[in-house]
Amino acid sequence: MKTMSLVVPCYNEEPTIEIFYNTVEKVLADNPESFKDITTEYVFVNDGSSDDTLNVLRTLNAAHPDTVHYVSFSRNFGKEAGLLAGLEHTIGDYVAVMDVDLQDPPTLLPKMLAMLQTGDYDCIGTMRENRVGEPMIRSFLSRSFYSVVNKISKVQIIPNARDYRLMTRQMVDAILELPEYNRFSKGIFNWVGFRTTYLKFENQPRSAGETHWSIWQLFNYSMDAIVDFSDVPLKIATFTGGLLSLISIISIFVVIIRKILFDNSVSGWASTVTILLLIGGIQLFCLGIIGNYIGKIYIESKHRPHYIVQEKK
Ligand code: UDP
Ligand code: MG
Repeated sequence: MKTMSLVVPCYNEEPTIEIFYNTVEKVLADNPESFKDITTEYVFVNDGSSDDTLNVLRTLNAAHPDTVHYVSFSRNFGKEAGLLAGLEHTIGDYVAVMDVDLQDPPTLLPKMLAMLQTGDYDCIGTMRENRVGEPMIRSFLSRSFYSVVNKISKVQIIPNARDYRLMTRQMVDAILELPEYNRFSKGIFNWVGFRTTYLKFENQPRSAGETHWSIWQLFNYSMDAIVDFSDVPLKIATFTGGLLSLISIISIFVVIIRKILFDNSVSGWASTVTILLLIGGIQLFCLGIIGNYIGKIYIESKHRPHYIVQEKK
């Protein structure tokens, strides 16, 4: 008998948890062949919800104490911390991470499991075929994000890939080896390697409740993706600085020669001010880039725990 663990981070998901549980149970019951030698374990993570999520989880655990477990944080630590806590608390030979809002369709689980059981893969990921039902601006920003990240980052992130995936225990253990505080799971899944393939599925609307991501949070998330897996921005800053220094050295010579030959060095102050502003702007931009990295180093160097558990079952 093998175990499949489902890691499910929940933040203010009171209306969706039961729908999720019932849907997964139905998929398991509808595919007895696929799951005949498999017991399923749920690891819900309550990421400091302010609604009744914890009580819903307590009730579910009371009803199914052997299969439903939960870890409840002392406050909101973010989805990445939730995923990590979930993975750390699994015992399964196969481990899936999935959202509780059914945007990661459980109906794919039988196929994912079957593919993993062939032994040809260590991880079956998923990607959305399209982004129907999503605001246009969000799709556009997301496309630009993937193209920038993949150009400058050492790990490749598959566009439209979801966190939703089923992995072998070996791969999960490898992921848990990574101690970093700034966790960008999509990058980490790729960084650890292993044989991964992706299944495509149609974009699903949320089963209930609302998304927790604002455009600003998505921007921050993208910045993390870049800073956590690439030092190219630092190189761009260095290169820009070098190029500007070279240009200014050349212009110093031009100015001196012009003064000696033609004595008309006073004209053109407006362009001088513009260029000064430009250079000032670039300097601040580069300082910002460096600051981003230093901020990350500062956070890492504190070695704080990724999350604090208040209650678990
Ligand atoms: N989530 C979480 N902590 C957070 C934000 C989100 O655990 O701080 C969970 C949320 O409960 C859901 C998953 O992460 O299970 C994805 O969140 P959401 O559906 O809001 O994101 P979207 O699908 O809109 O990208
Ligand atoms: Mg969602």
